[in-house]
Amino acid sequence: MIQNEIRRDQIENRLVIVAPARGRRPHGVLRTSPPEQHSSKPCVLCPSRLDREPFHLILPDTRGSWRIKVVDNKFPAVSLADRRAYGLHELVVETPLPRRRFENFSVREISDILSVYAARLAVMRQTRKLRYAAVYKNVGELAGSSLPHAHSQIIATVVVPPAVQSRRARFKLAWRRRRHCPYCALARAEKKGARRIGESPGSVAFAPHAAAFPFEAWILPSSHRTSLTEFNNQELQGAATLLKKIVGFLARRRLAYNVVLDELFGAKEMHLAIKVLPRGTFWAGLELTNGVIVNPISPEVAAAEYRRFFTK
Ligand SMILES: [Zn+2]
Ligand SMILES: [Zn+2]
Repeated sequence: MIQNEIRRDQIENRLVIVAPARGRRPHGVLRTSPPEQHSSKPCVLCPSRLDREPFHLILPDTRGSWRIKVVDNKFPAVSLADRRAYGLHELVVETPLPRRRFENFSVREISDILSVYAARLAVMRQTRKLRYAAVYKNVGELAGSSLPHAHSQIIATVVVPPAVQSRRARFKLAWRRRRHCPYCALARAEKKGARRIGESPGSVAFAPHAAAFPFEAWILPSSHRTSLTEFNNQELQGAATLLKKIVGFLARRRLAYNVVLDELFGAKEMHLAIKVLPRGTFWAGLELTNGVIVNPISPEVAAAEYRRFFTK
């Protein structure tokens, strides 16, 4: 008989019921999302529209145009002009080409995107009053994507979300009690275990013990890093290599996903995690009532499937 198991994520303080008995067949229980189609007309992120916009940063290409461009979100959730929702909300347009899909980006292109995140985070950290930033990317409709043109978003705010405050408290507690960083320890442990997905210079990828989503994957820096801004070029490339493999796997299975990372400015005791959250399941009544999440695919099975895909 397949055993279900209640697991706890100690840092996020979250319970997950890993329930393979509900799924049985890993493929039968997940909702797929067809690849998004860019319309034949230019969208708001296409160069013909975007070239008139002011920008925060561009990476130029060799022909005098741009490869990556950062602009203000035209429909911001927060803004420096809004006293009651103060912050920054930017879009990172990852390619001028409308039909390019993230899973087909090269390692170099993904590493460039990560370096653009780092550059913007460095500026936001210096912006008056801002204390926290979240970087996220939505791929596929089930992941909340509304524009097929490849892009990601960065939001920086004055308020620190309660979940982030409690995560920080847990990092602090670990330092105080055991003089160690829990994620440095986690990176070392998962590198060898059954949930290992892969390794690259500077980072390790694995399926977390209390994964909330089927095929959830985390990329952790092997050494203590609080922010992407602390990564050197080799570490950016290493993280990009793992990210490319993970999203390649998810694209093959037509799973929508979010890529997320965040940073509490100046919280040196915290350890960065780049999380890939596939959205093949809907959160239902249980999740919305008490935050307990049911995941029908065990992280150990997920990691084994990732490894099999990588060795092909
Ligand atoms: Zn477009
Ligand atoms: Zn650490």
